[in-house]
Amino acid sequence: MGTFSILTMPADGGTWSVTLYGASGDQPLKQLREVDAWTRLLAACPLHAHWLDGEPITGVMAMGGIVDRYRRLFYGARPVATGVALAGDAWACTNPSLGRGMTLALMHARRLRDIARSHLDDPREFAEAWDAVTESELTPWYRETVEEDRARLRQIEVLRGRGRAPDPASDRSAAARGAMFTAFAYDPDVFRAFIGTRNCLWRIEEACGDERLFSRMIELAHDARPLQLPGPDREQLLSLLAASPAPA
Ligand SMILES: Cc1cc2nc3c(=O)[nH]c(=O)nc-3n(C[C@H](O)[C@H](O)[C@H](O)COP(=O)(O)OP(=O)(O)OC[C@H]3O[C@@H](n4cnc5c(N)ncnc54)[C@H](O)[C@@H]3O)c2cc1C
Repeated sequence: MGTFSILTMPADGGTWSVTLYGASGDQPLKQLREVDAWTRLLAACPLHAHWLDGEPITGVMAMGGIVDRYRRLFYGARPVATGVALAGDAWACTNPSLGRGMTLALMHARRLRDIARSHLDDPREFAEAWDAVTESELTPWYRETVEEDRARLRQIEVLRGRGRAPDPASDRSAAARGAMFTAFAYDPDVFRAFIGTRNCLWRIEEACGDERLFSRMIELAHDARPLQLPGPDREQLLSLLAASPAPA
């Protein structure tokens, strides 16, 4: 939603959480630590304001320092350590907003079971097999997630008047991502493909390997506007965050 994002999550026992987040370094957004600013912003988003209808069981909890991190125990073609297998977040983690970490960790754990079954007796062979399967099956997820995050950050920068929009024509993966994120609102097949990428069934690159679907997305995206959820623009956001706290 412009220069900030909203995550709304139902949970157990009639509870739910709402997360408002933005780019690190976007100083005015730090106001969101204050419950009044947080509430004003959520109340200004017509499709999300009803998530305020409840009794708070915590205050606003702030979180920062989220990193994209990737580790590989190989130098060139050689393992730098044997007898250890990095898995899940110990191997790689990203901004949690896409909610992929547990799925990827479970996918990784399943691969670990298979590799341990066949290579546990030889530490070097094990290290090589573990690295090979991680690089071929998990690392592409990490890379695509980081790419998506960076594209979102560039979009935020442009909306803050600080950069130029990238030229999607110069990059097939940017073109595919942009087209999918616009076209999914207009076509059931693209919507299914999109949902599959959110649920870690396939990556955007894999979905776009279907040339018929890819062409359809490009065609739809050419004539359509990206789905725009109603909510404050940058100027309104800044004034909501700057407003003095409402009286109790
Ligand atoms: C705010 C936030 C929201 C997220 N939301 C989602 C989501 O909606 N969906 C999703 O799929 N993923 C989400 N993730 C990511 C997900 O939580 C992680 O990717 C996942 O938990 C990684 O699992 P793991 O087993 O690799 O590591 P962890 O779950 O971190 O487990 C590591 C465990 O090792 C323990 N440990 C550490 N050091 C030692 C030690 N020396 N000795 C013994 N034990 C030790 C830790 O206490 C911990 O229990 C989110 C992450 C964050 C931070």
